[in-house]
Amino acid sequence: MTTLPTAIVTGGAQGIGKATARRLLEKGMNVAIADVDEEAGRETVLEYEGFGNIRFIPCDVSDDAQVRRLIDDAVGEFRGIDALVNNAGISRFKPLDEATLQDWNAVIGTNLTGAFLCSKYAAPYLRDSRGAIVNIASTRALMSEPNTEAYAASKGGIVALTHALAVSLGPHVRVNCICPGWIELGEWKKKSARKIPRHTEQDRQQHPAGRVGVPNDIAALVDYLLSPDAGFITGANFVVDGGMTRKMIYAE
Ligand code: NDP
Repeated sequence: MTTLPTAIVTGGAQGIGKATARRLLEKGMNVAIADVDEEAGRETVLEYEGFGNIRFIPCDVSDDAQVRRLIDDAVGEFRGIDALVNNAGISRFKPLDEATLQDWNAVIGTNLTGAFLCSKYAAPYLRDSRGAIVNIASTRALMSEPNTEAYAASKGGIVALTHALAVSLGPHVRVNCICPGWIELGEWKKKSARKIPRHTEQDRQQHPAGRVGVPNDIAALVDYLLSPDAGFITGANFVVDGGMTRKMIYAE
């Protein structure tokens, strides 16, 4: 299988993005991690430079000028872009009465506008390389708890943005989406925020798969969707949640 040479992973300094960066490095790709957290970005580069060619590019994906610079820097460093993983995301859960327009714009800005901007400016290079995009949404695109309007809407937007991009950028660029469920990040944070994961039996048992997810559950599918083996898959959404959204729940 041919390996794609260069990937940009947004939000790649921690969590799911960090696990994805590692996996792609181990596949032989160059990886640019684009993140607002400079402490985490520097740490991740130090931790992973033994695995391959990794570069941290500070970038707020909600900012047009910073995304343009990200793409220019990545192309300048690696001569092209073959894969884009739109993973950067934030959540602000607040009751509807308390949520401000600023809260709404912050969440939509990072989670949805960020994916739009990165895709828009990476598209010319992805067309040249016949590359691929993977967007990270959430099972909250499909179901909700109370007080999660902005996050749910941003993730629903990502699912729709995925099929729109797949149609606009095909046949040269494939675009797919993953909806993760509960993914435990404790060990994948920067050192100052790292925690030992602790889950109850109830946490595990509410998943038909019998456990909470780990970042590599998502990174493995990103890796596959970027690879030529997934050449007939585009515009699709994959739920990776240990079966949680398939479990029927009746109130007691
Ligand atoms: P993390 O918070 O562990 O990592 C996200 C990284 O993105 C952080 O380093 C964060 O920096 C950075 N970031 C935040 N805002 C921006 C921005 N505007 N531009 C660039 N980087 C930014 O998150 P996860 O690994 O949990 O999340 C990754 C993706 O997966 C997100 O889109 C999230 O919504 C989604 N997801 C996660 C689930 C989970 O259970 N963990 C479940 C479903 C979906 P900082 O820490 O400084 O904010």
